[in-house]
Amino acid sequence: MQLYNSLTRTKEEFIPHEAGKVSMYTCGPTVYHFAHIGNLRTYIMEDILDRYLRYTGYDVTRVMNITDVGHLTSDADTGEDKMLKGAKREKKTVMEIAQFYTDKFFEDCKALNIRRPEVVEPATSCIDEFIRVIESLMEKGYAYEAGGNIYFDTSKLRQYYVFHNFEEEDLAVGVRDGVEADSNKRNKADFVLWFTKSKFDDQELKWNSPWGVGYPGWHIECSCISMKHLGEHLDIHCGGIDNAFPHHTNEIAQSEAFLGHKWCNYWFHVLHLNTNSGKMSKSKGEFLTVSLLTEKGYDPMVYRFFCLQSHYRKSLVFSWENMDNARLAYDKLIARIASLKAEGEIDQTAFDEQKAAFMRVLDNDLNTSLAVTAIYDVLKAKTNDATKLALLADFDRVLCLNLIENAEKKNAQKEEEKASSDDPLVKEIEELIVARREAKAAKNYAEADRIRAYLAEKGVTLVDTKEGTTWRIEANA
Ligand SMILES: [Zn+2]
Repeated sequence: MQLYNSLTRTKEEFIPHEAGKVSMYTCGPTVYHFAHIGNLRTYIMEDILDRYLRYTGYDVTRVMNITDVGHLTSDADTGEDKMLKGAKREKKTVMEIAQFYTDKFFEDCKALNIRRPEVVEPATSCIDEFIRVIESLMEKGYAYEAGGNIYFDTSKLRQYYVFHNFEEEDLAVGVRDGVEADSNKRNKADFVLWFTKSKFDDQELKWNSPWGVGYPGWHIECSCISMKHLGEHLDIHCGGIDNAFPHHTNEIAQSEAFLGHKWCNYWFHVLHLNTNSGKMSKSKGEFLTVSLLTEKGYDPMVYRFFCLQSHYRKSLVFSWENMDNARLAYDKLIARIASLKAEGEIDQTAFDEQKAAFMRVLDNDLNTSLAVTAIYDVLKAKTNDATKLALLADFDRVLCLNLIENAEKKNAQKEEEKASSDDPLVKEIEELIVARREAKAAKNYAEADRIRAYLAEKGVTLVDTKEGTTWRIEANA
């Protein structure tokens, strides 16, 4: 499989460290609020990568952290503690907030068919691990103490800016955003590994450390949790593109300083979801969550379908109009699949041919938009329905769009509607509802009442609503 590697800025043949096995690390959510659908786009695309690697036969182990401590509103080690901010807003403890939003995050993932990684580790359960690694960095001369905090010394590295699209000027952006310069830092790019002095005296969660009571920096979390579960060699590290700098840059700095060798071979970054006014964020514009999509009547699968229609290395523009188009296309697709009849023998030649075409596009840097096209190619293919259904079920092991389930649901619904319209009682009720409406329109209320009473005797209750009259059969009739 060819995979784009942000570290080398080229598409490379993916070769895992250990044959047949893949270790994959995903930066998890900061659990102080709901995830917005922009974050979830990243998790959907990472999920496709995870599932595709499994589909092609790899034994994948995936690890995700949960940031439940020490993540500041600015990545430059300053700003407010997001967790504490959430706790204050909702008048809960930090741990209550963390549990609540962790559960919500996985509910959203489930609704979007995003697999839960094998290991999900909250930062607060790994404090000893962080301290051990920071101690070692101190011993090796990569870290120093200043003003009560422990900093990573970026000048000790041969190369700090490993992602070439991010240079030192990017740090200045943080400064422009009102971030205070930290005079304890020896170099502008240095970052905090352990805080004992922070701007918030009321930081709720603190731990003992060799440097005093405090809490870990954000970046150390991912390095330690990854190494704890996946060892010294990581195959793929995933995340949103906004994490490449400084978060992933700092992860590489501290992990490789600690290990003394290269840590992660492939960096998989997903581009932003934008709105017409720019990058989607929690603070800007409408707060778009999975629950909001559901409230507005969109099946979460429509959002997954929408995301798959574009490549992960392109930014994607969200609008309600785009969602409506995606819904229309998804419903049409399900209707076409629902019309297939599971009859006949599977045509193995046609099956292999279509499957190879599907794999060819995903092997090319996970081209999901062409993988969606492959679904339509199957529907158009000159082969029988049984083969088509088998292929779609097979593709859906990767795409996870509930293609077969929703088609079956649609057919069951049709059956139900047909069964009830064949029922003579239903026919009579429907006709009488029309007659009653006409009677009412002609101000013949006696007739309208007679119809209602006649049906009531048969145990049928009419319910008048703004949209018209519906009916139900009383259970004890
Ligand atoms: Zn991370």
